[in-house]
Amino acid sequence: MSRRILPFISLLGLATFCSAEPATVGKQTRAWRAQHEKEILAEFADLLAIPNIAGDRPNIERNVKAIRALLEKRGIAVQVLTIDGASPIVVGDVRVPESHRTIAFYAHYDGQPVDASRWTSDPWKPVMRDGNAREVEWRAAKSIDPEWRLYARSSGDDKTPIIGMLAALDALHAAGMKPAVNLRFIFEGEEEAGSPHLADYLTKYPEQLRPTAWILCDGPVHQSRRMELSFGARGTLGLDLTTFGPVKGLHDGHYGNWVPNPIVRLTHLLDSMRDENGKILIAGFYDDVKAPTESERAALARIPDVEPALRREFQIAATEGDAKPLNDLLMLPALNVRGIESGHVGADASNTIQTEAHASIDFRLVPPETPESVKALVERHIESQGYKIVREPPDSSMRLQHPKIVKVAWGSGYPPGRTALDLPLSLEIAEIMTKAGHEPIRLPTAGGSIPMYLFQQPNNTPVIGLPIANHDDNQHAADENIRLQNLWDGIEVFACLFTHLGAD
Ligand SMILES: [Zn+2]
Repeated sequence: MSRRILPFISLLGLATFCSAEPATVGKQTRAWRAQHEKEILAEFADLLAIPNIAGDRPNIERNVKAIRALLEKRGIAVQVLTIDGASPIVVGDVRVPESHRTIAFYAHYDGQPVDASRWTSDPWKPVMRDGNAREVEWRAAKSIDPEWRLYARSSGDDKTPIIGMLAALDALHAAGMKPAVNLRFIFEGEEEAGSPHLADYLTKYPEQLRPTAWILCDGPVHQSRRMELSFGARGTLGLDLTTFGPVKGLHDGHYGNWVPNPIVRLTHLLDSMRDENGKILIAGFYDDVKAPTESERAALARIPDVEPALRREFQIAATEGDAKPLNDLLMLPALNVRGIESGHVGADASNTIQTEAHASIDFRLVPPETPESVKALVERHIESQGYKIVREPPDSSMRLQHPKIVKVAWGSGYPPGRTALDLPLSLEIAEIMTKAGHEPIRLPTAGGSIPMYLFQQPNNTPVIGLPIANHDDNQHAADENIRLQNLWDGIEVFACLFTHLGAD
């Protein structure tokens, strides 16, 4: 054990349970942060300087080593979980002997691949810029402007929470306060690659990866800049459809309106599945969909209206879904057409009846839908339109036997997840944040998909999303950035949750 670790551990042992109100913890944390901004940013910049694409093994190992060092420097017990061929998961534990509960705080240290030519500067050489995008020498600056932004891959998505959690621990340490509950930091290293080994990890390491509850710190906060909690994620399911015309391309003057046109077949099939208002027309699709609970409806009604601004930004005069609010519509399943392909247009167009037409679709699922239940409904619908479903391209006897043939190729998918807004933990987290001056917007579900159901299994463990980054952080794109005030707010909120969430 190094000399640096001892003072922290002994302090944890001596300090008593935090009796200070969240507002006080928040205030003390803010004061501590104001004194240590450059140290926090120096640690952050060092971590951001390590390239972090999931498949890049040597650099992934460097990230693991760096995060391990950051945790151990603070006296936190670290385990590095491994599976062959997977990025390691770094687990850090802060134990509180008198607590029976363990709250996991999740973030991921890997980032999206980069197209460096689109970046203003090197994605892994962190650069600070002011509100006018001018570079700032922050290390030499007299003071740090909270509106400055640090630019680097994963500054927003998702190394900010890692630094925020550690700074929160430092602030508590400095104030002689300790957590109310066992904290477990769980940092994944292949989220941006689709978490291909997450299920295997959860099975292989139940001891480490089955906490009392999960707080997932990923993604951006609400467009209004207010902090946000999200209690669900929609499931997802991909589908590729191919319709067939003649076995060879034909002159559409000689044969048009006699030989079936696969493009028209396809667009009609799509029209039979979804109207132009976003409503899914597949029989039974909404039958089981859970209506929002009373607390979900109350939370939906309190979400600030950012829709006029979004309509202006996207330059759309009207929205789908009978002009219902965006977040109400996210409580429903969706059928999105991702792309259609066949023939050519413009100067390349030819007067041809094509042989095939392709469409790619994704479904977004809500409880209690599953990929299996949706597949059954969709295939029944396609058959009801007179189609023979095939899994491989049809041979000539199949073509001659069936007037309408569609190849159905299901993509990957997983079910939705939701945590009730009126669970004690759900109420508690919102209350602590509110008392600390960071009243969160509560989203019953996010529209996008994360495999929340994996974290919930097998005991329906509560899973709550707590993003930190600014909504305009360019995540997944060039010039990704974090607005410093978002990091500062995150540190305060983490300190308050560590001291007040889940106390026995
Ligand atoms: Zn992320």
